[in-house]
Amino acid sequence: MMGPAHSLSGAAAWLGVGAATAAAGHPMPWPVLLAGALICAGAALAPDLDHKAATISRSFGPVSRWLCEIVDKLSYAVYKATKKRADPRRSGGHRTLTHTWLWAVVIGAGTSALAITGGRWAVLAILFVHMVLAIEGLLWRAARGSSSDVLVWLLAGTSAWIIADILDKTDGGADWLFTAPGQEYLWLGLPIVLGALVHDIGDALTVSGCPILWPIPVGRKRWYPIGPPKVMRFRAGSWVELKVLMPVFMLLGGVGGAAALNFI
Ligand SMILES: [Zn+2]
Repeated sequence: MMGPAHSLSGAAAWLGVGAATAAAGHPMPWPVLLAGALICAGAALAPDLDHKAATISRSFGPVSRWLCEIVDKLSYAVYKATKKRADPRRSGGHRTLTHTWLWAVVIGAGTSALAITGGRWAVLAILFVHMVLAIEGLLWRAARGSSSDVLVWLLAGTSAWIIADILDKTDGGADWLFTAPGQEYLWLGLPIVLGALVHDIGDALTVSGCPILWPIPVGRKRWYPIGPPKVMRFRAGSWVELKVLMPVFMLLGGVGGAAALNFI
């Protein structure tokens, strides 16, 4: 899928989690629901850091271009080192290492560790990065063109600051789910894991599939491209994605959000 559909599916997924946790007796305070949905929308773009043309690789100027090159090289090296004989030859790392459940968990756990050890500035940095991505993903029409980069960064910085302030208040939700002292913001890793997984599932629905299960082998392949039967798959950026999936994500997100806040 393309950036906007990935972002929308990420936001909808977190709102769905909000509905589920409310039903299970751990309702999210509204700042957690909002911040989590935005983080998840941003995190749902992150796996494409292995592709030069992807939103994330263009969102942070030279920093993300450089990071993209490293991630692509690393992914390709890991692919070559762990491929079985039935896995096809490839010429680059796109849709390999960063498109696996293991990557999602490692990135999420790393973010949680950073959030609880790094203090306010770490939380702000995590929020900033994901706000930039959420803006690029959800408001793609407004954020198009490299001249708008600085505006996006300013908007993301401001919203990260405001959101962190609201979360920090009593009942703001910094200690949602993990309530022991010192575990504030531990939950920040959850929307990041979820966003990456939702991205992988979205890619699995497209023609080329997605090796989500790596390093668990499937048959004679270790990078088995998971996906539904061929007839149910669509091309990235096709009308199915724009006219069917994106409205469905919006509807599901709306219902999830309303249920999470106990409106329905
Ligand atoms: Zn992808």
